[in-house]
Amino acid sequence: MPNAVDQLFAVKSAINKAEVEASRVKGSVTLVTVSKTFDADTIRPVIEAGQRVFGENRVQEAQLKWPWLRADFPDIELHLIGPLQSNKTQEAVALFDVIETVDREKIAASLSLEMKKQNRFPKLYVQVNTGSEAQKAGIDPKEALAFITRCRDVHGLIIEGLMCIPPADENPGPHFALLEKIAHGAGIEKLSMGMSGDYEIAIGFGATSVRVGSAIFGSR
Ligand SMILES: *Cc1c(COP(=O)(O)O)cnc(C)c1O
Repeated sequence: MPNAVDQLFAVKSAINKAEVEASRVKGSVTLVTVSKTFDADTIRPVIEAGQRVFGENRVQEAQLKWPWLRADFPDIELHLIGPLQSNKTQEAVALFDVIETVDREKIAASLSLEMKKQNRFPKLYVQVNTGSEAQKAGIDPKEALAFITRCRDVHGLIIEGLMCIPPADENPGPHFALLEKIAHGAGIEKLSMGMSGDYEIAIGFGATSVRVGSAIFGSR
């Protein structure tokens, strides 16, 4: 049984090493610890070890565990990294600090309304489907710039970052490079890319945050 706290420190030192190798500033990459499917008792020691940034892929699952953990650790930063349905935007805006999966007009519109209504403004990332995979969420790369522009001009949203999940069976490098290129063209600085299998590579391509689950908590 792997120890999540030991793995946390191993991943953090691997991140530091990748930062140095990429001539990046040490500590400049944020570790988003992906805690989906793991319960509060499993997550708590990782928080106690100092980790504060977490990612969940389902709104409902996150609602069941994070309000209680947050009561004890108010400085938790919670990221939504899974697809958002428009009937869940109210809950998502109330719970998350960063929503990484803005990928269509309907979601942009409903987030804009809901954020004003709640006077709560999570940071927003646009998810780009860099591999144009039919089954995968995210805006197509060819439409990304136009979509980001509409998020800004039509819906009044500030888009802080871009997120991608490269195809599982491909070299992720070109996908990370594509995401960086789109972000550069759109004047966006944050890049959420890299998971357990490829976060060190992503750091080489300019990731500002990596989303790591199984390398810390074990397999799901
Ligand atoms: C589950 C998930 C991760 C973490 O994946 P691991 O391979 O377990 O590190 C990262 N990003 C997204 C969007 C996920 O759904």
